[in-house]
Amino acid sequence: MSLASHTDVFGPPTAARADGREALIGLDRDALTQRLAALGEPAFRARQIWRWVYGRGVTDFAAMTDVARPLRQRLAETFVLDRPAVATEQVSRDGTRKWLAGLADGHKVETVHIPEEDRGTLCISSQVGCTLTCRFCHTGTQRLVRNLSAGEIVGQILLALDRLDDWRRSDGDRTVSNIVMMGMGEPLYNYESVAGALKIVMDGEGISISRRRITLSTAGVVPMMARCGAELGVNLAVSLHAVTDALRDELVPLNRKYPIAELMAACRAYPGLNNARRITFEYVMLKGINDSPADARALVRLIAGIPAKINLIPFNPWPGSAYECSDDAAIARFARIVLDAGYASPIRSPRGRDILAACGQLRSDSTRAGGIRAAARRTAAQGRTAAA
Ligand code: SAH
Repeated sequence: MSLASHTDVFGPPTAARADGREALIGLDRDALTQRLAALGEPAFRARQIWRWVYGRGVTDFAAMTDVARPLRQRLAETFVLDRPAVATEQVSRDGTRKWLAGLADGHKVETVHIPEEDRGTLCISSQVGCTLTCRFCHTGTQRLVRNLSAGEIVGQILLALDRLDDWRRSDGDRTVSNIVMMGMGEPLYNYESVAGALKIVMDGEGISISRRRITLSTAGVVPMMARCGAELGVNLAVSLHAVTDALRDELVPLNRKYPIAELMAACRAYPGLNNARRITFEYVMLKGINDSPADARALVRLIAGIPAKINLIPFNPWPGSAYECSDDAAIARFARIVLDAGYASPIRSPRGRDILAACGQLRSDSTRAGGIRAAARRTAAQGRTAAA
């Protein structure tokens, strides 16, 4: 298996559009202020517009009633406030909602809303597809990969807030209270766009979701972890999934570049860690592969000294996947060992499996049928190897 380099990834399309207007969504405050200065507007104008766009969800300059009419007209000629289009919306039996968001160049990404009693979590994509090819993840079977722009990342949130009618709700009953960068793609391979988007999301005069309610999940792009912690201060989740390099090399091929020892060192050094702010280690439960009591004990030794919790994720199957989910008893046994060692070990309850919205089930290209056949061929080949 070859390890694709993230430098093979296409960048996002440039902001220029055929009609000459520019996407306003995704510009940071400084950029917005500069653009308005170029139109002869004072700095406070940027703040006014920011509040309309990110605080109230306005999609039309005409609605900005404290902006003079000629300027509204000028803004509409200069900028667009487009969000990704909703290609499809699916609702799971358990209330989980999945949108296929269509981008301006025709590519698509998936965004998932997971309602819970005490929170509503939005799971956001950072790339179209993913280069990491983790063996158990559906997204990795998608061929083309392109980075999303900051605007396309924020756009997924705006889209969800629109569809969930969240703009007019008061803080206490917002349906989107938390954000997880756990959708399609590796966020630390698209750091600039992700950081730009999260800074917009955290801005107190806009969407205003605090860094404490934002979690970024990485498969372990070691060189980017410290910067993420220092600059964004968001919670970090690390997709560990195996306790030996031999197994992790196979499950998460990125491990060949950044092996477990380096990953653990970067976790220990993550800025701002303490008992109130722990790293979440994600660990997918694969039957007979990584779910033994010995694995659990090795895991505990590996993370010794790191303020951490372990999120056990029952494997979510997808068409053509080669693994099975561990038995409930094996998961419970594993969780008990981790818990007894003093780490919280919540089992992530699968949400939205019926609409392929659960962890690792996202995939969005139009060659779906071909992809499934290819995956099925791989599975069949593995079966033959096992039988031989
Ligand atoms: N690239 C980032 C973001 C993806 S987050 C990362 O790897 O962390 C999605 C999480 O779901 C990751 O922990 C991923 O390893 C896990 N996952 C992928 N496929 C899965 C599957 N089929 N079942 C359960 N979890 C899966």
